Order: sequence, then C-alpha cells, then structure tokens
Amino acid sequence: MSSCCSEDHSAFSSAPKSSAASAEGKHLIILGGGGAAFSAALKASSLGARATIINDGLPMGGTCVNTGCVPSKTLLRAGEALHRAQRPSAFAGIETTGRLTDFAAVMRQKRELVESLRQAKYADVIADDPNIKFVRGRGRLVDARTVQVDSERFEGDAVLLCTGAQPAVPEIPGLRDVPFLTNESAFELTELPESLLVLGGRYIALECAQLFARLGSRVTILQRSSRILPQGSAALTDDLTRHLESEGLKIVTSVSVQRIRQDRSGVVIEALANGERAVFRGAQLLVATGRTPNSSGLGLENLGVKSDAHGFVSVDGHLATSVARIYAAGDVVGEPMFVYTAAYEGALAAENALTGAERTRDYTALPWVVFTDPQVAGVGLDEAQATAAGISAEAVNLTLSSVPRALAARDTRGFIQLIRNRETDRLVGARILAPEGSELLMEAALAIRHGITVSELAAAFHPYLTLSEGIKLAALSFGKDVSKLSCCAA
Ligand SMILES: Cc1cc2nc3c(=O)[nH]c(=O)nc-3n(C[C@H](O)[C@H](O)[C@H](O)COP(=O)(O)OP(=O)(O)OC[C@H]3O[C@@H](n4cnc5c(N)ncnc54)[C@H](O)[C@@H]3O)c2cc1C
Repeated sequence: MSSCCSEDHSAFSSAPKSSAASAEGKHLIILGGGGAAFSAALKASSLGARATIINDGLPMGGTCVNTGCVPSKTLLRAGEALHRAQRPSAFAGIETTGRLTDFAAVMRQKRELVESLRQAKYADVIADDPNIKFVRGRGRLVDARTVQVDSERFEGDAVLLCTGAQPAVPEIPGLRDVPFLTNESAFELTELPESLLVLGGRYIALECAQLFARLGSRVTILQRSSRILPQGSAALTDDLTRHLESEGLKIVTSVSVQRIRQDRSGVVIEALANGERAVFRGAQLLVATGRTPNSSGLGLENLGVKSDAHGFVSVDGHLATSVARIYAAGDVVGEPMFVYTAAYEGALAAENALTGAERTRDYTALPWVVFTDPQVAGVGLDEAQATAAGISAEAVNLTLSSVPRALAARDTRGFIQLIRNRETDRLVGARILAPEGSELLMEAALAIRHGITVSELAAAFHPYLTLSEGIKLAALSFGKDVSKLSCCAA
C-alpha cells in the first residue's frame, strides 16, 4: 500500500554513496505526522528499519488531507459544479439551472472525503506494518537521538523533523482582536459567509477565494503586491485576474492594510490601496498571507539546530540539519511547500539518516499547479528566468482558441506558453493557463527532465481532439503559423 504521494522517487536524486550502511534493525524517530512523516516511515520500514511517528496538533496526515489539498480541491470542484450549472450554457439549445440548497451538506460531504482518505491513505497504510508505530502527543527534542512526549522518551538512531507549517498571521494592528478564518477553520464553516475579505494573493488565497465566490459569497481579494501570484509572469497573472474578475471576484492589488476592526456588520479593513485611503467590509475575513514553520517549542535552539530568519529549519542537499543525526523534511524546511515534495523529501531524508547514503535533493523540472479555474500550471523556467540564467530563450504563446478540444468544449480560456533554448531546441519551461491545465504539465516536465527537443514534441502523435494536442501545436508554433495547419497539425 502507498501513502499519499509516497511513491519511489529514487530516480530523482543522486545515487547512494557506495559506503552506505544497512538500515536493518535501526530506529528512526519522526516528529510530525503529515505527508513527509508517513513517506519517511514507509521508506524506513522498506529498508528493514523501525519508525516511530509522533504527531500532535492536526490529526493524522497533517495539513494536506485535513486542512489543505483535499478539502480545498473537493470544495473547488463543488463550487465549479454550481458555477457551471448557474451560468448560461455555451451550447445552443441547452438550459442549465443550479442552486446552493444546503451549504452544510457540501461541507459534510467534504468531511466524509477527508475522513475516508485519512483512513485509507494514512491509518490503513501503517496499520499492518509492525515496523511503524504511531504516537499521539507533542514531541520535543532531548538530544540528537531522543524525543520526549509528556513523560515518555523515544530513543532511536536518528531524528527526522517533519513538523510542517501553519498559517502565518501578519502583524497588522487590530487583526488579533477580530475573528478571522484560515485554511484550518474556513473549511469547517457550516454557514456560507455572505461576503468574504481574503488577505493574500498567492495560491492558497486564490483557491479559497474562488471556491467561496462560486458557492455564493461576495469575495474581495486584498493583495499587498501589485499583482496576484506575483512570482508568475505578468501575462499569466493578468489573464487569471481577468477571468476571476469576470465571474464577480473583486481583486484589489497594491494594498497596504493599516488597521482591522470589527463592527456590527462584520470585519472592517482600513487600508491604502494604490496610495489612496480605502475601507473594505466583509461578513468574514480569511487570512491567507503565507505559511510559518512549526519549529518553535521543539528544543532546536538547545541542541544548536540552525534555522533561517523565518524559522524554517536549515538543511543541506541531503536534508541533514546542522546537528549530526538530526534531519528535516517537508514544509518545516521551507520552499517548495507541496505534499509531493514533502513526501519525496521524507523518503530521501529517512534513507540518508538510516544508511548515511547522502542522496541529494533534485528539483530539476518541478511541476506546480494553482487549482483555480482556469488552472495555472508551470514547470521549469519562464522566459525572463531563462534569459536571466544566460539561456538564449525563445517563447511561444498558443491561445486555447487554437486548440480543437477547447473549441469543441466551447471553453477557450487561457493559453499554453512553451519556452525553449534557441541553441539546443530543448524545452526549458512551460506556463499554462487553461481549464484542467495541470493535466498538460507532465508532458512538458518529462521533456525538460529528459532533454526532449521541441521538434521531437512537435513530431509526436497527440490524439485528436485532446487538450494535450495543444502542447504539440505550441511546439509547432516555434516555426509555423499553426492557424494555417489542417486537422491534426500534420
Ligand atoms: C489550503 C492548502 C491547500 C494546499 N493544496 C495543496 C495541493 O493541492 N497540492 C499539494 O501538493 N500541496 C498542497 N498544499 C501544501 C501541502 O498541504 C503541504 O505542503 C504538506 O501537507 C506538508 O506536509 P508536511 O508533512 O511537511 O507537514 P504537515 O502535513 O503540516 O504535517 C506536520 C504535522 O506535524 C504536527 N506537529 C507540529 N509540531 C509538532 C510537535 N511538536 N509534535 C508532534 N507533532 C507536531 C502538525 O500538527 C502536523 O500534523 C496545500 C496547503 C494548504 C494550506
């Protein structure tokens, strides 16, 4: 059985040291019980070692299954179903209607999914494994081999810190005096907020904003930077902004929040928006301004485990901390903060800790997704990053209106951008804004990782009419005007 995202990633790390020792009979103490921890425990067991997972705070499985990936994605789908039903159909002769009749039922169904996945992907996965023990309790390091939980001590050959991260709450006057939601409470609401102010403009903020907007809340996004998704290219974020605004979300950028207070109608935010005084009101406030590591109270300072200025545990390429025998993996070590990278790091760190293998993290061609609709997906470098890296970069943009699948679905929102190295013709990056755009990403990711050229991508068969044909068409656009091609880009 496999836990969430814990498949073997050994091809994505350097080979083990030839002197790597056997893990047989060793014991790994894992602090935290999310994706990184479970993957580490399963790796330890597969190597013939024992693992003890110590978890507190969030239930078993940590952020992803309980308060992150799973609840957000199923609620986004619920919102999408309602949104599609409520919008006039794009197809002639078809009338649709949709209505939210029971918000509490939507949330109940979400809770059932969370519970069943927590059981199937976490509890059941370790239930029959005699090498893995799960302990409920708050752990604290005593030394590099020992963790204390209440009055009990767990001693092993090494310790792995997988304590994750939690919502960061910015220092804004008044914020801590008003009730506010985070991803840990927003997915537990039983009543839909009539209106919602969302602080933040990165992926967690945007996904939450769209799901609540589509379920019926009036949503205003307040973003400090001049753009949402500020790390993305302007084309990507401008287009996404347009699509979100077209369905009623209000997006205000360059916002500096001055003070937050509560009145009888809800939460009031006094701010400077583009330098002008502005007041925003909402029945509820959702804070999604970033993540802060769960690294305090672990006893790190006493042992000399170094952290960065934000508290993320400092690790080297092997995920070793500054103290021998103590390793760290997942959100607690900082970006990238995804469950699939947490799982990858957990397994890698467990192997290194138990065998001394010194495998190195490798994030070449790491794909990422923002699950808004349309989705934003990326891998490798964008054009500006590639140019900055000294690559002779060339980019093409293919709008979805050139992709037969999108035309047939009558949904041509978005574009596919491919970036290649002009000198080698190799793909160096892709940026996609499209409904289900994430499903297009892996072809580009594999091409980058395995040095496949754009000409090879263009020459490969892509079934007609699939969305993936868009990748072929985009690849062809480097040398051709694809609007002049017949069916199947032949
Ligand atoms: C709203 C949201 C949506 C997301 N969506 C996605 C997505 O779609 N795809 C994706 O890949 N990623 C997504 N993520 C990110 C993903 O959830 C995290 O990157 C991942 O869960 C991190 O795993 P982890 O094991 O490092 O930490 P966590 O899962 O946070 O686990 C850490 C565990 O350790 C516990 N703990 C902390 N301190 C102690 C202590 N002293 N003793 C014992 N236990 C302790 C915590 O309570 C928690 O249970 C999302 C995150 C959020 C917030």
